[in-house]
Parts: sequence; structure tokens; C-alpha cells
Amino acid sequence: MTDAPPPPYRWFDLHVVRTERVSPSLVRVTFGGDRLGDMVVGGRDQRFKLFLPQPGQDAPVLPDDLGMGWYAEWRTQDPAVRAVMRSYTVRELRYAPDELDVDFVQHGQDGDGPGHSGPASHWSRTARPGDRVAILGPVAEENGGVDFQPPAGTDWVLVTADESALPAAAGILAWLPAGTPAKVWIEVAHPDDVQDLPTAADADITWLIRGNTGRPTLDAIRAAELPEGTPYAWTAGESGTVRALRRHLVNDRGFDRRTITFTGYWRQGATEEDLLAELG
Ligand SMILES: Cc1cc2nc3c(=O)[nH]c(=O)nc-3n(C[C@H](O)[C@H](O)[C@H](O)COP(=O)(O)OP(=O)(O)OC[C@H]3O[C@@H](n4cnc5c(N)ncnc54)[C@H](O)[C@@H]3O)c2cc1C
Repeated sequence: MTDAPPPPYRWFDLHVVRTERVSPSLVRVTFGGDRLGDMVVGGRDQRFKLFLPQPGQDAPVLPDDLGMGWYAEWRTQDPAVRAVMRSYTVRELRYAPDELDVDFVQHGQDGDGPGHSGPASHWSRTARPGDRVAILGPVAEENGGVDFQPPAGTDWVLVTADESALPAAAGILAWLPAGTPAKVWIEVAHPDDVQDLPTAADADITWLIRGNTGRPTLDAIRAAELPEGTPYAWTAGESGTVRALRRHLVNDRGFDRRTITFTGYWRQGATEEDLLAELG
């Protein structure tokens, strides 16, 4: 009998090293940890699970079983006590010193009423050096947590993102082979959220500043002239918006639906717990 290969993910105990307000909508938290040097990422939109303490706790309360049964146990833990679980993207991983950057969107307002900002956004805003978190993060380049996978034969790529997917778009642009034609739309709340996104691709990046109404990305793509050739599209951000974008690309632009990777990173009016509850 052969041994099963080790899982490409592992738990890491991390602490905050420093925080930085990158722009009006984004706070960058830099994490460190004894074994962070074991983390290996696949680049692009590499995601991971973040586990935060509840208010008043000094460390996240994790399941006892940190093996294959962790999720089943996390679901049975008291929601008021168990760690707050969220999905985030690796903005940058560096070694020696081993540091992980994660960019958190600052959304809503603090408090419990309408516009409540959510525990992760709030946590990032108030994080201090030494604050403890845990993550379930990759330890191999091929780890199943990278969705940007252009098929062979792709002639050009289309990328759309809002602030929550800006770290992923930055990772995709940094990864794209030199000269790849790329049409990119990034929608942000504030002109000062625009940032430099280094790439070797032949990228045409359009920044869209959101107003109070409308769907700027959808409107911009509807009006855009797209290149000839076989496209691959990656779109992430608010769920309703990415679904509408996908519909437009398939129905009006004739994209093959198998060449579109679309991911709702959040949904208007729903917390991540609400979304998990829907999955059953
Ligand atoms: C694969 C993946 C990767 C992701 N990477 C990142 C990342 O690198 N950085 C990042 O900031 N987010 C990222 N997200 C999105 C993030 O997980 C969600 O925004 C999450 O809901 C934030 O948790 P919260 O506790 O702040 O808010 P929640 O408690 O989940 O939600 C509270 C309220 O805030 C609203 N809300 C949630 N997110 C936003 C938002 N971005 N803008 C406006 N309103 C919002 C909800 O609709 C809800 O009404 C990613 C999501 C996925 C699936």
C-alpha cells in the first residue's frame, strides 16, 4: 500500500508584524510566524483561509482536529466562540525575513447596524503588532487554491476586479508571461485607490472609480472593443456583478463559458457565514 501524498495545505500560527494604510479602501497587514518559511504559493489569485479571534479573545479558537475533519468540527463549534473564518488572497510572500502581506478592503462602518463592516474588515483596521491569527495556507505550488488557469491556445486574457480582488489581479498581472495581451478593468471606490501594478504582459489597464449608482465595470466592458483571437476571462468581485459580467461575455460576446473563471468574492448584504450556510 502506498502512502497518500501529504496535503498541499497546512495550518500556520501567525502574528501581525505591522499594518499600513495602502490607500483609502485598503489596509495591508504583514504577518510573520516561526514556520512561515514553509509556505509555498502558486502566485496569481492564490487564496487561503484566515481564522481570526472573536472580540475579547487573544487567539483564534480552532478545532481540536486540525486534520481532514477540521471543517466538520468548526461547523459544530459555538459561532460566538469559534474562530471567524474568511477567504483572502496572498498579496505577497517573502522569505528571509519570512513575511506575508494581505490587503483587506475597508468596507462599511463599525458597529452592529446597517453598513456593519464585518469582523475581518474591522479586525484589520484595529490590528496591532503581536495580534495572533491562524491560516490554512499552501505548502506546494500546485495546491488547488489558484483559479486563474488559462487553457492552452489562449490568445489574450480579460481580467476584471473590484478592491477585494485587486490583490488577485495584481498577482495575475505579476505572473503573466511577457507580452501576453491583457485587457484589465479594476473598479475602486476612490481615485487614490489606484496603484501601480507591475507586469511584463502587454496589459491595457483601465481603472474605474465607482459612483453611487450603476455597474461601471459592466458598462465599460459592454462599450469596449475587444481583441480578436481566443480569449480567457477571469472575473472576481461582488457576486451579482460577476454573474452579470459572465452573462454578457457568453450571451453578447460569444465567449465559450468554459473559458471564463468567475468568482463571487462577496455578496451585497450577505456575510461569509450567510454564504456558507447556503452551501449547507
Ligand atoms: C477566494 C477569495 C479571495 C478573497 N480575497 C480577498 C482579499 O485579498 N482582500 C479582501 O479584502 N477581500 C477578499 N475576499 C473577500 C472577503 O472574503 C469578503 O469581503 C468577506 O466578506 C470579508 O469579511 P468581513 O468579515 O469583512 O465581512 P462579512 O462579515 O463577510 O460581511 C459583512 C457585510 O459587509 C459586506 N461586504 C463584505 N465584503 C465587502 C466588500 N469587499 N465591499 C463592500 N461590502 C462588503 C457584506 O455584503 C455584508 O453585508 C476574498 C474572497 C474570496 C472568496
